Amino acid sequence: MDFALSEELQMVRDMAKDFAEREILPNIEDDEKNHKFRPELVKKMGELGFFGTIVPEEYGGNPELGFLGMAIMAEEVARVSASWGLPFNMQTVGPATILLKFGNEEQRKKYLPGLVSGELIGCFAITEPNSGSDVASMKTTAKKVDDGYVLNGQKMWISSAHVAHVAIVFAYTDTQAKPKHRGMSCFCIDMKDNPGIEAKAIETKLGLFCAPTSEIAFSDAKVPLDALVGEEGSGFKQCMTMLDRTRLSCAARAVGVARACLEESAKYAQERTQFGKPIAEFEMIQDELAQMSVRCEAARLLVHRAAWLTDQGARCTREVSTAKYYAAEAAVANANEAMKIFGSYGYSSEYPAERYLRDSKSYQVVEGTSNIQKVIIASYVLGKHG
Ligand SMILES: Cc1cc2nc3c(=O)[nH]c(=O)nc-3n(C[C@H](O)[C@H](O)[C@H](O)COP(=O)(O)OP(=O)(O)OC[C@H]3O[C@@H](n4cnc5c(N)ncnc54)[C@H](O)[C@@H]3O)c2cc1C
Repeated sequence: MDFALSEELQMVRDMAKDFAEREILPNIEDDEKNHKFRPELVKKMGELGFFGTIVPEEYGGNPELGFLGMAIMAEEVARVSASWGLPFNMQTVGPATILLKFGNEEQRKKYLPGLVSGELIGCFAITEPNSGSDVASMKTTAKKVDDGYVLNGQKMWISSAHVAHVAIVFAYTDTQAKPKHRGMSCFCIDMKDNPGIEAKAIETKLGLFCAPTSEIAFSDAKVPLDALVGEEGSGFKQCMTMLDRTRLSCAARAVGVARACLEESAKYAQERTQFGKPIAEFEMIQDELAQMSVRCEAARLLVHRAAWLTDQGARCTREVSTAKYYAAEAAVANANEAMKIFGSYGYSSEYPAERYLRDSKSYQVVEGTSNIQKVIIASYVLGKHG
């Protein structure tokens, strides 16, 4: 067992850290206040090879880095900005997983190079106003006609959708299938210039303000036959496969926020004096810092194990859910502690602690809630997977 990162992975980590501190950090507080998304940063990250870690070279990727490389970069990006972790996920893992595992050669050639370079902004759309954890309860339909499919329905909370060029969309092609989820299909859709697709920003979020989040309305939206990914009826399986990968990215991003909380708290605790000494000298503060550190280390080990297993091609739903659950809870726990260590300044937007708390809460929801991760983990504990 080798816990050391290869020289290449260390270089990637340092590059992502340097980029996040140089390109994202200087504007992050203003951008968060102004809800500003910077598409030019997507292109810059693309140029540096951030988005190609799971994509073969023929489509512009650098697959030697794999999911472990992705996880290492995701942590560094989210440490500086949890907002930026979302576009990172859309460009790196979501649509790419679907196209690589289930798409045909034309679809891969058409979309993967653009997603990797950042020329094309991607998204994936599962959630609907009345369908979240229960994915199979979605209502969006795709009716086959002579020369394509016609989509109707609504998607909700979709990251990047109103700025996206391409979307992976899940919809029912057969509403009578038994079991129900066998009627679900997956489509890769051009988002621009389709009069039946309207994507609008959702501006009511608690945080992650630099990351665009959207609702999409499909009103008789016609897409070509070749927008179908794989076979009709295979959408649910594709969706679950994708979630195993995007969850991993989410877990890595949660480690980034947990670490930011630790680092900023340690710094503040050494600067802030009360009772004539830095508050870092108080044992109770040290206890909090130690616990935050343990959570970071444990969460990162779980993430790296799940990423390594994914890179080996192993099925590791349990390990991914374990990492996602623990890292999300660790990020929220560390953000809570950071708020306490910062005192009143934690409650103020002068310091980032309150942003960490708002942003960390998203990890308990996105890519399957913490409860859903526990449902998955318990199903393995109870031997329901043979
Ligand atoms: C910032 C942000 C970005 C997002 N980006 C995307 C995106 O890009 N694409 C996309 O498709 N979706 C996206 N989502 C949606 C997200 O994935 C869903 O919100 C999430 O899956 C939970 O669904 P829900 O909100 O409908 O909650 P619900 O499913 O309604 O759950 C409500 C509560 O009930 C609990 N619950 C539900 N079922 C069970 C159960 N069986 N056992 C125990 N408890 C249960 C949940 O844990 C939760 O506490 C995003 C959401 C946010 C906030």
